[in-house]
Amino acid sequence: MTTLFTDLDSYSEWRNSIPFGKTIGFVPTMGALHEGHLSLIRAASAQCDFVVVSIYVNDLQFGSANDFQHYPRTQTDDVNLCSTANVSVVFAPLKSQLFPNEIMTLLQPSNAADHFEGSDRPGHFAGVVTIVDRLFSVVKPTHAYFGIKDYQQVAVINHMSSQLHPDISIEICATEREPDGLALSSRNRFLSQRARTSAALLPKALTTAITNWKSGVMQSSALIDAVHSVLAQDPTIKVQYISIVQAGSMDQVQTVGSADVVIAAVVIDGVRLIDNMSFANA
Ligand code: AMP
Repeated sequence: MTTLFTDLDSYSEWRNSIPFGKTIGFVPTMGALHEGHLSLIRAASAQCDFVVVSIYVNDLQFGSANDFQHYPRTQTDDVNLCSTANVSVVFAPLKSQLFPNEIMTLLQPSNAADHFEGSDRPGHFAGVVTIVDRLFSVVKPTHAYFGIKDYQQVAVINHMSSQLHPDISIEICATEREPDGLALSSRNRFLSQRARTSAALLPKALTTAITNWKSGVMQSSALIDAVHSVLAQDPTIKVQYISIVQAGSMDQVQTVGSADVVIAAVVIDGVRLIDNMSFANA
């Protein structure tokens, strides 16, 4: 049975009732749950005694109020899904409980936040590390689960957590994809039928980089050009960035090795999509 807590005190009462030594796997989400979130929940359930899923649409990480307001909110369906996935607790707090002071101090993310999502969406990662730090302090998990789909987010959270929450084990899960390769995302529901079809060009373009690397192309610029050419098949796709970075550090590389990752962000019909693939999986 899944219990829904919307206030801190009742959650804390539950948390305090868990005997010392039991493991708590925490899956932070913004709701609108899909198979990607469920894969994190399954990983947590396989490893931990209890699973806590948070549902909190974090205004601090949105650039525009409009984007925040239009983010999908499907809490009843989400709680039902969590029940079928044997989640122990859904924690869906109000902002006023998490951040009771009107004047907020935001955490400063590490240098891994400087480019890509960090520069395209100013303030985004300060919002992400501030909420994850706060949720870690309240939820008090032993393990926390994140998707590698949000590659830069994982790097930034790893840095924050190793400094501020060294006892929490950060677990990284693979990206769940549609049959045509598109990474599952809560935002995919906003794609028109036409945009949904062209969205499959994003994983196809990243796969081309991996295939070309396997066949001996090592120069980052050549591989990035190949990604651009695939995306150019649909002129309505607006490329935000394509880069190849070193695993973990987010430093751009010139010559590509197996520890590196190709990352990209595009906008299709006003919907922003991000994805990445590792050369380690080639
Ligand atoms: P969100 O609700 O978008 O904030 O995502 C919550 C967590 O689910 C994050 O750790 C994401 O990286 C992860 N996630 C989102 N999409 C996927 C996916 N397609 N496969 C695996 N994990 C995902």
